[in-house]
Amino acid sequence: MRLSLADIVPFEKDADTALGRPMACELPFLHGFGVDQNEPTKFDLREPLQLLRRYRELGIELVNVTLGSPYYNPHLQRPAAYPPSDGYQPPADPLQFVKVHLDAVRAAKAAVPSLKLVGTGYTYLQEWLPNVAQHEVRCGHVDFVGLGRMVLSYPELPRDVCAGQPMQRKRICRTFSECTTGPRNGMISGCFPLDPFYKAMPEAKQVRALRDAAK
Ligand code: SF4
Repeated sequence: MRLSLADIVPFEKDADTALGRPMACELPFLHGFGVDQNEPTKFDLREPLQLLRRYRELGIELVNVTLGSPYYNPHLQRPAAYPPSDGYQPPADPLQFVKVHLDAVRAAKAAVPSLKLVGTGYTYLQEWLPNVAQHEVRCGHVDFVGLGRMVLSYPELPRDVCAGQPMQRKRICRTFSECTTGPRNGMISGCFPLDPFYKAMPEAKQVRALRDAAK
């Protein structure tokens, strides 16, 4: 399974600052899963953890845990330095949201230790990804480290790290979000800024123009 462990209230771009901010909503906020109804930017993991326990009872063995929605809370789902064309500037340092992912999967692991969990949200760590990944696995906080955006720009990263090779710095995903901007505008996804194959495509220019227009 892949499960978004918790929603939060949808975010929108503040017209003055371009930062993401929670949309106005009535309280209690009844439309989220794993969300605190009275403070809907915060989680309430009781129900999601109950669901994970149910998964285990049903014989499910492996779950990739993520958070939020890439459409309504991209700052949470994919911590990034640069937003996709339909996004907003992160409302806080994206590292904080990486930590939120680490904490959520830790809570899931503590609640259902026999369920194998794949953690998410590591790409923003960039050069430090392997160090944090090693720590989280070694301490038993998570079983596997899932890589999303990083494998678009640098699919050999796990091989290089496990072989003790230096990381290829020019291929490290810098969270430019162009792999999201492409499909959000009807194009294919790919690492347009860093992967020479996608960089040479006509779509790369279109994605750059959309990125500049969104600034
Ligand atoms: S376009 Fe490339 S560098 Fe940018 S977020 Fe996607 S994978 Fe990372």
